[in-house]
Amino acid sequence: MKSKSTELVRATNEGLYCEQGDFYIDPWRPVSRALITHAHSDHARWGSGEYHANVKCAPLLNLRLGADLPLKTYKAGEKFKMGDTWVSFHPAGHILGSSQVRIEYQNKVWVASGDYKRTPDPSCDPFEVVPCDTFISEATFALPVYKWDPGEVTAAKIFEWWQSDQDRPSLLFCYALGKAQRILAELSRLTDRTIYIHGAVETLTQIYRDAGIKMLPTSLVQNHEKGYGFKGDLILAPPSAHRSPWMKRFKDPQTAFASGWMLVRGTRRRKGYERGFALSDHADWNELNQTITETDASTIYLTHGRTDVLQKYLQEQGKEVKLFHTEYEAEEEAS
Ligand SMILES: [Zn+2]
Ligand SMILES: [Zn+2]
Repeated sequence: MKSKSTELVRATNEGLYCEQGDFYIDPWRPVSRALITHAHSDHARWGSGEYHANVKCAPLLNLRLGADLPLKTYKAGEKFKMGDTWVSFHPAGHILGSSQVRIEYQNKVWVASGDYKRTPDPSCDPFEVVPCDTFISEATFALPVYKWDPGEVTAAKIFEWWQSDQDRPSLLFCYALGKAQRILAELSRLTDRTIYIHGAVETLTQIYRDAGIKMLPTSLVQNHEKGYGFKGDLILAPPSAHRSPWMKRFKDPQTAFASGWMLVRGTRRRKGYERGFALSDHADWNELNQTITETDASTIYLTHGRTDVLQKYLQEQGKEVKLFHTEYEAEEEAS
């Protein structure tokens, strides 16, 4: 017997490590064997010897980490052996291919959530509740103040903002992987107009199209000649393009940012956007609590975000709550 430890996952300098299976989950340093929950840059890092992920995650990982990535893929729910453990990936509802990792060893089950949400999202598979003894949950937006509207409500607000000024270009900034495609999918219920996109959004959007996600038609901004004004058009671009020379071609645009952080007034003003739309791909306070309850786990580990308030709240309900220090970011500045 390799280990007498009852812990199936522990935090190390390299990342969350499962000794019984000899693998890491979303390691932040190169390791021999990495299981990847999703393709955001703080979860999927370069340099590991072997990568294992859900099959829908593969094109995104190949784009970001290389076409020759040593990657093995699995269907959702497919069980495979890792060391002395059985492992499977289950949808997390965060972005295309995003998965929770279920680990079974002897008679114990641990689930690592990765990033997740419960709010319906037409651009990825919905979160699956996976019963477990121990649940490792993200806690990015773990304060009661965070409560999301349904995506279609926020999409309707974005549509209204865009339609309200047809004399100017409408520049909507959002993360290039996940958020942009979700907006394109949500808006396809309201219009069939073509949306203009920044180059950083293009290949990622094509991967979503290839995966069968229904989105609005898109056209690359850079394919239009210099004099083209984009009057009355909606343009999606990553936050890194805000106030960059790229913006110069748009005459007097109205600007907005779509992110969960936009729920808190002040963030928008600080970042210099005229409007903010609270659209998040993470669980809000209620979703976190609902999920933790539904997994029926008696022990909870919390990662990234505001862990303190949620920890106290869960402890008051008699749950055992521990923290993992990780190097994941609060919300990806993916580009
Ligand atoms: Zn993420
Ligand atoms: Zn994350």
